Amino acid sequence: SVNIICCIRRNLSSSSSLRSSMPAWVIDEYGNNGVLRFTEDATAPSVNSASEVLIQVHAASLNPLDISMRSGYGSNLLKLRRDPVSLGQNGGEFPIILGRDVSGVVVDCGSGVTHFKPGDEVWAAIPPWKQGSLAEMVNLTEYEVSHKPRSLSHKEAASIPYVAATALSALVNAGGLCRNNCTNKRVLITGASGGVGTFSIQLLKAWGAHVTVTCSHNAEGLVRGLGADEVVDYTAGDMATELGLLEKFDVILDNVGGDSEQWALGLLKPWSGAKYVTLVTPFLLNIDSMGLLEGAVHSGLNLHQKAITNMCNGVFYRWGFYAPDGPALDEVSQLVDAGKILPVVEATFLFSQVPLAFQKVEGGHARGKTVVTVA
Ligand code: NDP
Repeated sequence: SVNIICCIRRNLSSSSSLRSSMPAWVIDEYGNNGVLRFTEDATAPSVNSASEVLIQVHAASLNPLDISMRSGYGSNLLKLRRDPVSLGQNGGEFPIILGRDVSGVVVDCGSGVTHFKPGDEVWAAIPPWKQGSLAEMVNLTEYEVSHKPRSLSHKEAASIPYVAATALSALVNAGGLCRNNCTNKRVLITGASGGVGTFSIQLLKAWGAHVTVTCSHNAEGLVRGLGADEVVDYTAGDMATELGLLEKFDVILDNVGGDSEQWALGLLKPWSGAKYVTLVTPFLLNIDSMGLLEGAVHSGLNLHQKAITNMCNGVFYRWGFYAPDGPALDEVSQLVDAGKILPVVEATFLFSQVPLAFQKVEGGHARGKTVVTVA
């Protein structure tokens, strides 16, 4: 491991911005942490189209998705998205570079890029079908990239983009919330102590909403510090009954899944446009287990049936998904620089310690984010 560390340091520091190979952590097959492999010779990306932006990675962070993708989650659909011509052929997707968040510096731009130039400090949430940020360089389209908040270090900035893009997509597109309509809105966030939750509390408070959260007892100080108005400890007893004693909610953002749907939907204000949005959906799992067509159809029918049933009870039922959105990150950047959103970095690992970072996230009980410093 000492050799690996020396090698990583040498290559990161001596790298020129436009080489054909680069240091990276890759996987060549799906599996447990043992499949993570450091290499000096990963193919370095380069700008291949007018809209692309090549970024030197300074910091990355890990999300539960990285653990799932390492084990093959979503591989059927992601394979097709990466290379539609291969029609999901086995093994063609490797080596894969994981890591969905990047904070770094632009080193090259396509001829059509208008918002960025070499030297700009940027951040982005990387779509799961693209090569990730556990590498020296990452290539994205201009639309996926945003100027990083000036007030944050790269390490702090890397903790935000993927959870921010997910929370914004879920709360705005599925939940119907925005900065102009949150006053007097009551929002419940389950699983509020993790990456998406700690970001969402702060965003919703910045937008003027009243925020109730569920989390474990030892996370109460954290979530209250981020602005949560009411905190319900899910480990303390009958959480559903306790939540049922509160005024009903306009939006529920569910970060936990499982049996939450069974008790949470009854907590919404009926016949007032209230929405339940869950981030824990069976969509990719269905496609993994049933194949593309059957999995997609099964998921569609499942969602449709739940949406109709709940509509009859006067509430909306929706699935939330991460969506790439650089302009949305611009708004987050402003909120961060205005001091309204703080990074919540629970643990930081060196680039040489990527397997340890995976181990940390895989252990669960996140209190914010796990970051990897790359350069
Ligand atoms: P994290 O792992 O960062 O956070 C999950 C948090 O939930 C932890 O703090 C955990 O702490 C807490 N928790 C676990 N069980 C419960 C419970 N029963 N009640 C309340 N809190 C609980 O995950 P993220 O915030 O990054 O993501 C949240 C979920 O959303 C994940 O399942 C993730 O896979 C999913 N997701 C989906 C996306 C999509 O596109 N659909 C995109 C991004 C995320 P503790 O166990 O100590 O209580």
